[in-house]
Amino acid sequence: MAEHQRANCLIIGSGPAGYTAAIYAARAGLKPVLFTGQEPGGQLMITTDVENYPGYPDGIMGPEMMEHFRKQAERFETDVRMELISKVDLTGPVHRAWTEAGEEWHSDSIVISTGASAKWLGIESEQRLTNKGVSACAVCDGFFFKGLEVAVVGGGDTAAEEATYLAKLCPKVHLLVRRDEMRASKIMQERVFKAENIEVHWNTSPVEIVGEDEVEGVQVVNNKTSEESEIPIKGFFVAIGHKPNTDLFKGWLDMDDTGYLITKPDTAQTNVAGVFASGDAQDKVYRQAVTAAGTGCMAALDAERYLTEKGII
Ligand code: NAP
Repeated sequence: MAEHQRANCLIIGSGPAGYTAAIYAARAGLKPVLFTGQEPGGQLMITTDVENYPGYPDGIMGPEMMEHFRKQAERFETDVRMELISKVDLTGPVHRAWTEAGEEWHSDSIVISTGASAKWLGIESEQRLTNKGVSACAVCDGFFFKGLEVAVVGGGDTAAEEATYLAKLCPKVHLLVRRDEMRASKIMQERVFKAENIEVHWNTSPVEIVGEDEVEGVQVVNNKTSEESEIPIKGFFVAIGHKPNTDLFKGWLDMDDTGYLITKPDTAQTNVAGVFASGDAQDKVYRQAVTAAGTGCMAALDAERYLTEKGII
């Protein structure tokens, strides 16, 4: 048999769900091994002020908060590995996972906390001009557009956050909202409406981004009148929601038609014994750092119970 590494509990993903699962699993003596994936810290690494996570009365920057999570997980001797799991075999009872470098792991339990990633519009110009003025992260790329006019597409909290962030750097931000109202929370909407340099274009969708080698504008359509027009901009930010990072588990685990993992009510248990799901990979409703941490805790407690019942620990 080929050589492999062995664990009681593998945690895949390193956002609030993964690190919370690690803290609970480690304190329960499961000696968890956590694989951070491609984006250590997850989506909070590209968030600015987090004002709604309890325990931080003055708010905290997303990356700093994730640093706290990681340190707390490591304090109890979680083995944190900056690697990506690229293949799994969940036949069980011992589940198998492979890192991108080909290292094979065997584990009695797996906690999935792979999170979600930004969605794209799917238009030709978007792909062609990615990193040439098209971005899905204002915090990462906004700096490059300092002093320039930009557009943000979307009407949720992400779009509102991106627009207000960019409004501090750019003379003008065009927010393209496809309906006549925003889905964003009231407080986020108020921030958008208060910013003098954010212009909300209601009932407006992008048709194509204009420009050969760099963004020069966006061609938009008014969804009520079908009238088309062009807005000259240098940066185009896509903020239209997220897709769960669950492709790795297709064929192994039950998921809904949009890819969210299905767990049994009141548990983190998937359809496969010993495999638990937490965070944005299984939550399409709340998708908050605090709810992700909560389900990460549930997954670790369920894993501990499972291992105890099986007499493994
Ligand atoms: P979201 O709530 O799903 O909103 C997506 C937005 O994009 C909607 O307004 C949607 O329009 C629009 N949209 C979708 N597809 C589109 C398309 N093809 N063209 C144009 N517009 C399109 O996603 P999100 O804003 O990323 O938020 C996800 C979750 O994270 C939410 O629960 C949110 O509260 C949370 N979040 C919280 C914070 C915070 O509290 N600081 C920050 C960011 C995110 P429709 O409304 O017409 O569907």
